[in-house]
Amino acid sequence: MSVILICIDEDVHSARQYCKMNNSIVDISRPLINILFPNRCSFCGRILEKRSCICRRCLSSIELIEQPFCPGCGAPLPAGLTTDENSCNQCRDLTFHYNKNESLGVFNGKLRELIHLYKFNRRRSLYRLFAELLLKHKMQYIMDHDILISMPLSRSRYSERGFNQSHLIAREISKRTAITFYGNVIIRKGNAQPQSKITTRKERLSNVTDLFIIKRRWREFLYKKNILLFDDVLTTGATASECAHSLFNAKVRNVDILTLARALRGPSTV
Ligand SMILES: [Zn+2]
Ligand SMILES: [Zn+2]
Repeated sequence: MSVILICIDEDVHSARQYCKMNNSIVDISRPLINILFPNRCSFCGRILEKRSCICRRCLSSIELIEQPFCPGCGAPLPAGLTTDENSCNQCRDLTFHYNKNESLGVFNGKLRELIHLYKFNRRRSLYRLFAELLLKHKMQYIMDHDILISMPLSRSRYSERGFNQSHLIAREISKRTAITFYGNVIIRKGNAQPQSKITTRKERLSNVTDLFIIKRRWREFLYKKNILLFDDVLTTGATASECAHSLFNAKVRNVDILTLARALRGPSTV
């Protein structure tokens, strides 16, 4: 008698492994699921050919950030301005420890929903889509750096979420390019309040001051290197700036930031 194992789950890998180890169990999970539950776009319901959660039309509605954008924080600027001479209102009076940020798109619409799906609804496989989009639109920027590092999560946030969202995307970018990825270089000391719960930039800055340190054994690998620090969303830039500060303390040459999204209105958006 054969046993049929059906796994209706995003990750069928472990179920398949189980089938391989047990000859009496037949793996028909994928074909059957495809017939009974065709893969649909999470936003508009269109049936998808590829294993994804968003159709091309919905994907094309993402508001990509292209030139001109602020040379400090990566926020889009009105057309006609030149990037070299113009900063956004926020950056005109502020300084950051990092050199510049570039974001894939504005933190709104489908991009915001995709990031929420990824972070809070555990659609972990979305890291591949995000890596693809970043490589498609930010390849030159990424490849201008020696080392890619991801923003660390606090221990409590990691155990709550089960994964570091920035780590997975940065590692995938590294796999598809020649750029070196170091995943555990930065330690996040203690548990600051979530930045999303703080409304002013000043409070956000003091909330993360001295929050990060670089592991001693990594310092020789970072010495005089051009670092690209990856995070999911940049809001006020306070966390990224403080992280860059710790990297400069470890004697790196330069720190730039790469983010999926730039949040434009108010800090309490993630
Ligand atoms: Zn769609
Ligand atoms: Zn700016």
